Amino acid sequence: MSGRKRTYLDWNATAPLSAAARESVLSALDLQGNPSSVHGEGRAVRALIDGARRDVAALVGAEPAHVIFTSGATEAANMVLTPDFRMGRTPLSVGRLYVSAIEHPAVREGGRFDRENVTEIPVTPAGLVDLDALKALLEAHDRAAGLPMVAIMLANNETGIVQPVRQAADIVHKAGGIFVVDAVQAAGRLPLSIIELDADFMILSAHKLSGPKGAGALVSRGEVLMPKVLIHGGGQEKGHRSGTENATAIAGFAAAAREATGGLEERTAAILRLRDGMEARMTELAGDVIIHGRDVSRLCNTTFFSLPGLKSETGQIAFDLEGIAISAGSACSSGKVGASHVLTAMGFDAGLGALRVSLGSTTTETDVERFLEAFGRIAGRRRQGVAAA
Ligand code: PLP
Repeated sequence: MSGRKRTYLDWNATAPLSAAARESVLSALDLQGNPSSVHGEGRAVRALIDGARRDVAALVGAEPAHVIFTSGATEAANMVLTPDFRMGRTPLSVGRLYVSAIEHPAVREGGRFDRENVTEIPVTPAGLVDLDALKALLEAHDRAAGLPMVAIMLANNETGIVQPVRQAADIVHKAGGIFVVDAVQAAGRLPLSIIELDADFMILSAHKLSGPKGAGALVSRGEVLMPKVLIHGGGQEKGHRSGTENATAIAGFAAAAREATGGLEERTAAILRLRDGMEARMTELAGDVIIHGRDVSRLCNTTFFSLPGLKSETGQIAFDLEGIAISAGSACSSGKVGASHVLTAMGFDAGLGALRVSLGSTTTETDVERFLEAFGRIAGRRRQGVAAA
């Protein structure tokens, strides 16, 4: 494969660093000061972080004061998913966490809740969180143990299916619960407003937006209802997240947030055209291809498909050998591919392989063409009963 051009179509795993984000990271590296220092060098880094807070807040229609920078979405999830809250100075207990069955492990693992206090909300066969089930679960919630907390993602990382988060917010708030939205995959791909979605907390990650890896944020609706501190120390981020701020990554996050906020409509329309054209051709090339979530609202950039008879792992390797980087959508850190918990939650057989193609702002027609050529070959080999890899 060496020397051959690679085609990167795995933007939901991580989006390539944009030129603007790279530039911001590089210039922040040259700043000498500690943002907590009062001298000029320190104040310059503080100003950079304050500006970044405004940019990230603007991405989700929040107040800058309500953005807490973290090392990523996983840390933000662990910060907010806790039984221990306070309302102003008054401690507040959360008795149970309800997470949708299709959440990313960062949320599905339940943060600081004991496993026995985490309940999964089922999804419908269409891949949407079952709102009737959510209602029933919250009606049965034992308030004596504390408030309910509900975490639902805005868009699923595997299927791209957009969840009925606004309706869920009404149900959660009617039940007096706290509502957390993982907006990691939706940011930069859908217009976002923490107020319109009526979320109490929102989770973001820089590297899904073409920012650097290792930066994210927990965004809150206000500053009164707040989770117990996860990382104690010098009191940075108003005491919510101690440790010297990662100013370089935060600078890149801000540049990516600015890019994601501007020109959203045109950018997503162009990606959608590419994606829909690609899916039409996939169906022509392999009549039996299953494109998951095709009939419901999906992110513009995501295609999660199954070719009967092709295992996820085999397919992933076959595409990689063709120079195409796509993923199974559920690779764990070891790189091993497991059954998709998302498809299983939708009622599919655990043995059904699936692969995810995810496009982005610099994806070209040539990239899609290369993928389709490989797709045609792999689908054909499968039909002939030849090992796909
Ligand atoms: N939530 C979703 C929906 C994701 O797709 C991811 C990353 O794959 C995460 C959370 C975790 O983000 P991070 O890598 O910033 O911890």
